[in-house]
Amino acid sequence: MFGRAAPRKSNNTKYYEVLKVSKSAGPDELKKAYKIAALKNHPDKGGDPEKFKELTQAYEVLSDPEKREIYDQYGEDALKEGMGGSGGTHNPFDIFEQFFGGGVFGGGGSSRVRRQRRGEDVVHSLKVSLEDVYNGTSKKLSLSRNVLCSKCRGKGSKSGASGRCFGCHGSGVKMVTRQIGPGMIQQMQLVCPECKGEGEVISDKDRCPQCKGNKVTQEKKVLEVHVEKGMQHGQKIVFQGEADEAPDTVTGDIVFVLQVKEHPKFKRKLDDLYVDHTLSLTEALCGFQFALTHLDGRQLLIKSDVGEVIKPGQHKAINDEGMPHHQRPFMKGRLYIQFDVEFPESGVLSADQRRSLEKILPPRPSSRLSAMELDECEETTLHDVNIEEEMRRKQQQQQQEAYDEDDDEPGPTGVQCAQQ
Ligand SMILES: [Zn+2]
Ligand SMILES: [Zn+2]
Repeated sequence: MFGRAAPRKSNNTKYYEVLKVSKSAGPDELKKAYKIAALKNHPDKGGDPEKFKELTQAYEVLSDPEKREIYDQYGEDALKEGMGGSGGTHNPFDIFEQFFGGGVFGGGGSSRVRRQRRGEDVVHSLKVSLEDVYNGTSKKLSLSRNVLCSKCRGKGSKSGASGRCFGCHGSGVKMVTRQIGPGMIQQMQLVCPECKGEGEVISDKDRCPQCKGNKVTQEKKVLEVHVEKGMQHGQKIVFQGEADEAPDTVTGDIVFVLQVKEHPKFKRKLDDLYVDHTLSLTEALCGFQFALTHLDGRQLLIKSDVGEVIKPGQHKAINDEGMPHHQRPFMKGRLYIQFDVEFPESGVLSADQRRSLEKILPPRPSSRLSAMELDECEETTLHDVNIEEEMRRKQQQQQQEAYDEDDDEPGPTGVQCAQQ
């Protein structure tokens, strides 16, 4: 865009060239030059956006006596340093609008020229239970927000007038320049203390008594949030234009983001539900029936088929007892049940019990060892272990060793181990 490599001294004529004016051009001449060039190069008229930005930037600087002086003396880079490196902190279209007012090209055709600032959206997370999204619910939430003052309709003054701040010429910021050495200046940008960054001031006499010149007042509002059946975790519920109001601003939205809390019993994946159920060994072998309380309080009777044996880890599914589908709540997913089988806690069976069981259960695999084979085997002893405990201990040991090694020889292997 600009010749950054060029020495500073030769870099303080560019803005004049862009606007096609002489270095001694007065405010009226600048205005006229900018007006002609900006209208010709406005992107809405097919102009080059970069060129338009350049023009506006040049005008912004040269029309401000303070900035112009810095520019004339030290060039463009001095301004950039002072303005946080962006060169022009203002939107070129805002400057254009300030200059010409909105709707320059008539007919209100271009949205860009008539653009308004958009207020920020306010995002809240909304915690709901799985029951809430299964059954649907509505929650009333009380929020306080800014609304345009009803008495002055957001003007802040009784008369409806507001004056441009003299301290900052309406920009809301003040440039403070300091000489910190020969040929070196430091610039700082401060929020204008006179108007607190508003760019305009209202005289004490004219101040609106209701909002005290703030233009907005606080309002308490109750929003009723409808949580619909089947809504998903993270889904957004939007209240358009319900965020804080501000003058000349399109009000932002209030957005609720659903946070579905974990359920102690049911897990959800999209429209399906998952539940675990533990059977005793007897139930797994000889049949079971139990009642499962669903998310709407209904009792589902769940029972095995006659003679059916359930294995540990086995799944079963019930159709149409999963989550309702959002916006088609009559359609439901499946309810999956995963069975766990609990073996008897007491580990020792009597000889009688063993004999009876052997009679009922399928025969042992016929891999009996012959006497000769037995002779060749070594005797072993099986110990009870807590395998999780055991693994934890081993891992700690490994880490300690890696750490010790690292102390001895800080090589690449040592680093790798320590990172594990
Ligand atoms: Zn000011
Ligand atoms: Zn007011």
